[in-house]
Order: sequence, then structure tokens, then C-alpha cells
Amino acid sequence: MYIKELEVDNFKSFANNVTIPFRKGFTTIGGPNGSGKSNIIDSILFALGLANARSLRMEQLSDFISTHTNKNEAFVKVVLGAEKDDEENISVARKIKKSSQGYNSVYYMNDKVTTQTEILAKLEKYRITPNSYNVVMQSDVMSITNCSNTKRREIIDELAGIGDFN
Ligand code: ATP
Ligand code: MG
Repeated sequence: MYIKELEVDNFKSFANNVTIPFRKGFTTIGGPNGSGKSNIIDSILFALGLANARSLRMEQLSDFISTHTNKNEAFVKVVLGAEKDDEENISVARKIKKSSQGYNSVYYMNDKVTTQTEILAKLEKYRITPNSYNVVMQSDVMSITNCSNTKRREIIDELAGIGDFN
């Protein structure tokens, strides 16, 4: 499974609807400070619902909505591409909208409305989970180099997929 495409609309610094294609293999994103590189990672964590554990750089949901427009919603869709025979292409999307009770999220899988629980259950089959190291943040690199041997062992077990057997 790999990230094939990302669609971002009115999310943080991405005011316009943009679709970013990713090729298989290694991709780097370059640009000056403050140009929106980390916002791309934030958008992926936001859409996949992995935000809780790997801390997102925001205080509240409304911080995700671009301040460059007057629209009261933000949308991100991640298309995951199949790499193996037993895999299928999946698209996962999330929209946040302002309502009378504040901001609420609507989740989509393959363009149909679903729940965050359903999405996390589906992603878990591909070992994409909130507590695993699918996404390694800058602060994680520091903590991995500075942590105790036992903690480092836990991280390696988790990466190897045997963390549950401890
Ligand atoms: P660095 O190289 O310093 O890590 P970066 O390329 O990772 O920078 P980001 O942190 O992704 O940059 O983007 C920061 C920019 O995003 C800032 O200019 C900030 O104003 C803008 N930004 C963050 N939230 C919003 C928002 N809700 N609406 C509009 N712009 C936003
Ligand atoms: Mg950054």
C-alpha cells in the first residue's frame, strides 16, 4: 500500500483545491520555511483519522480551515494505491464543516460516508494504525535517539509487527 494521490481543499495554507500525485517509491517535498510542507503531512494524518496519537500541530478542528477564504469547511482525500495482489485501491477522506454546534467531521471511504471506526478498522488490515510508526514526526526522531533501550526495543517490535506479543 502506498500513498498514490492527495486531494486538499481549503485545508490550512492550501486554499485552492489541489491534487498532488505521488509516485511509487521515495518522494521528497521541498520548499522554503513556512511554505506548507508539514501541512501536507498534517492533511494526511487528518484524513486518515490518525491524528489523536501522533500529535497534530493544532489546537482545535477549526484551525484546519484555511484562513485565506470565507468557506467554513475543509476537505482532504488520500488515495492509497494497491501494491500486492491481496490489496485494493482505497480512498479515505474527511471533511470538517461548521454547524450550529461547532465543527463536525464527516468521513468517507471510497467516496461513501462512513465512520472513523470503520476507516481505522480497514487501515489496520494494512498495518496503518494510530500508534504505529507509519508517520515519523521530527520530534519522534529526537525521542528515538534519546529514549531508553527498553523503549527503543518497543519501537522496533512495533515496526516489525510483533509489538502485540510482548
Ligand atoms: P518549515 O520549513 O518551517 O517546517 P513548512 O514548509 O513545514 O515550514 P508549514 O508548517 O507546513 O510550513 O506551513 C506553515 C504555514 O501554514 C504558515 O505560513 C501558516 O500561516 C500557514 N497556515 C497554517 N494554518 C493555516 C490556516 N488555517 N490557514 C491559512 N494558512 C495556514
Ligand atoms: Mg515543517
